[in-house]
Amino acid sequence: MIKFKNVDKIYPGGFKALDNINLTIDDGEFVAIIGRSGAGKSTLIRTINKMHDIQSGELTVDGLNVSTLKGRELRKFRRSIGMIFQSFNLVERTTVIKNVLTAFVPDLNPLRSFFGIFPKEYKLKALDALEQVDILDKAYARADQLSGGQKQRVALARTLAQNPKIILADEPVASLDPINAKQVMDYFKKINTKKNIAILINIHHVDLALEYATRVVGISEGKIVYDGPSEGVNESV
Ligand code: ADP
Ligand code: ADP
Repeated sequence: MIKFKNVDKIYPGGFKALDNINLTIDDGEFVAIIGRSGAGKSTLIRTINKMHDIQSGELTVDGLNVSTLKGRELRKFRRSIGMIFQSFNLVERTTVIKNVLTAFVPDLNPLRSFFGIFPKEYKLKALDALEQVDILDKAYARADQLSGGQKQRVALARTLAQNPKIILADEPVASLDPINAKQVMDYFKKINTKKNIAILINIHHVDLALEYATRVVGISEGKIVYDGPSEGVNESV
């Protein structure tokens, strides 16, 4: 589904953050990307939804050449891919359900969008997404009243409301305590196994990567230095 072929990413200024990446990720996989800070994990993930452009090689998602996407096509493509950030990226001063409803803004006519009027079917979908991460009881709480773990579950619900085939997660549990981190990882696992959504997650906790992912990709200085099942990692590193 996701295919990197000889991909290089060079930042303005000349720094090569990805160096000849070859990587194929299939439907429904749960892949952890591990490596030291600065290795290129975040760059790798962010090329997939074209938050970063690549300079050479070929990157395709379901056969679509990501480099050529622009305008409406790019927006549609991005909606098929969920994105989860370390910092949650919620609108803090509004309710949880309104945060989830933002997933539907592109489907609204501009007037409805301006007044924040969502049809009932979208509200039901948003509530269903919140239920999938067991946070329905907070639907009308303000986002800034939630704990970090709860906020990340709301971010997951917002992503689920988009009905994505892939979820990219850039250090989603790095700012959470160990108990909340495991809880959020449990939801990634549940989403992966129950909904067959592929998960590609950057994570610097190697223990969590090995526990939850089925495949681990190790990156160092922009190169893939390990790619295999998570069970094999302990013996080979
Ligand atoms: P990781 O996620 O593994 O910590 P990153 O992908 O964030 O690594 O960064 C990889 C390398 O690219 C680092 O050396 C970083 O300093 C560099 N880098 C990241 N973003 C930029 C940028 N916008 N401009 C120039 N260099 C960057
Ligand atoms: P950090 O990795 O430091 O926690 P974020 O992941 O929140 O920071 O954001 C890093 C970059 O991603 C910023 O350049 C920001 O503009 C961009 N960004 C944040 N949210 C989105 C989004 N929903 N869609 C596209 N780009 C985003």
